[in-house]
Amino acid sequence: PTLLAIESSCDETSAAVLQGGVLLSNVVATQEIHQQYGGVVPELASRAHQQHIVPVVHEALQRAKVPKNALDAIAFTQGPGLLGALLVGASFAKSMAQGLQIPVVAVHHMRAHILAHFLETPHPPFPFLCLTVSGGHTQLVQVNSPLDMHILGETLDDAVGEAFDKAAKMLGLPYPGGPLIDRHAQTGNPQAFAFTITEMPELNYSFSGVKTNILYFLQAQRRHDPDFVEHHLADLCASIQYTLVETLLVKLRKAAAQTGIRHITIAGGVSANSGLRQALTAEARQHDWHVYIPKMEYCTDNAAMIAMAAHFQYQAGQVGDLAVSPQPRLPF
Ligand code: ATP
Ligand code: MG
Ligand code: FE
Repeated sequence: PTLLAIESSCDETSAAVLQGGVLLSNVVATQEIHQQYGGVVPELASRAHQQHIVPVVHEALQRAKVPKNALDAIAFTQGPGLLGALLVGASFAKSMAQGLQIPVVAVHHMRAHILAHFLETPHPPFPFLCLTVSGGHTQLVQVNSPLDMHILGETLDDAVGEAFDKAAKMLGLPYPGGPLIDRHAQTGNPQAFAFTITEMPELNYSFSGVKTNILYFLQAQRRHDPDFVEHHLADLCASIQYTLVETLLVKLRKAAAQTGIRHITIAGGVSANSGLRQALTAEARQHDWHVYIPKMEYCTDNAAMIAMAAHFQYQAGQVGDLAVSPQPRLPF
């Protein structure tokens, strides 16, 4: 099928065209407006989506050299995400589909993050494990086929991306601070400071404890040295990054041992983290894992992954009618 897909769950407006499973275009407009507020402002996100959606879809079709009437279906992100943001993409997709008399395909954002692996070759064989690490989620998923996947474990509070961003904020770094922690960590010693590696039952995660741990540690150090952070920025970033990555790895190792699955993948924005990538490569050597990491542009929010998920759903006959509405907390 020839599919147009739209992603608008958070602060990226994106459109992509996929034909027979081959990506023809993927256009992403990132919203800069949120940076000055230190986080995504839902109301501003919706407004920016409204401004971006027409030009972004137009450019995606143009770059793909696909006319509107050659489309078989239009896919959109149904959830999870910000309601106002999701509504823009969903309403646009439904109106356009109605105009063209073609079906819509409603896609789960977190399943799509995982299926981004199929935009490239070689892709992992089934079954595989996926550690999905993003700004809003931290999930360990067993993937048996494109449509058959289940969560083995997940965070019970904060997401790991959120932990990176909040830690960065405590260090006085601008939002989103995850990539900055990564950058400063390059020249720091990961063993300089020891933070809590929280171990939750089963295969679940928790990242709220380490946040408090870092906060109290910084408060105590600043009493002796008001410029403690400035003096130790690289070591602090390296130690925080080590702690967060190791927290992720403890459960990944456990999941791999429990399931016997050795094809390991990561997805979501935090897959950009160089500490996580290096650690995975080292683990792969040690445990004889095959590790798959998508291209950066397919790790962060994009419509290409929504199109890929829609491709599998369309083939299975999972097309929706115009009554399907966005769900901010869409269950996995
Ligand atoms: P979700 O998919 O759960 O709805 P999201 O789409 O907002 O959330 P992404 O865009 O996939 O999340 O990822 C953004 C997160 O990734 C941010 O928290 C950001 O700080 C983090 N991040 C990006 N690059 C890096 C990096 N190099 N190191 C650490 N964190 C990073
Ligand atoms: Mg984002
Ligand atoms: Fe996302």
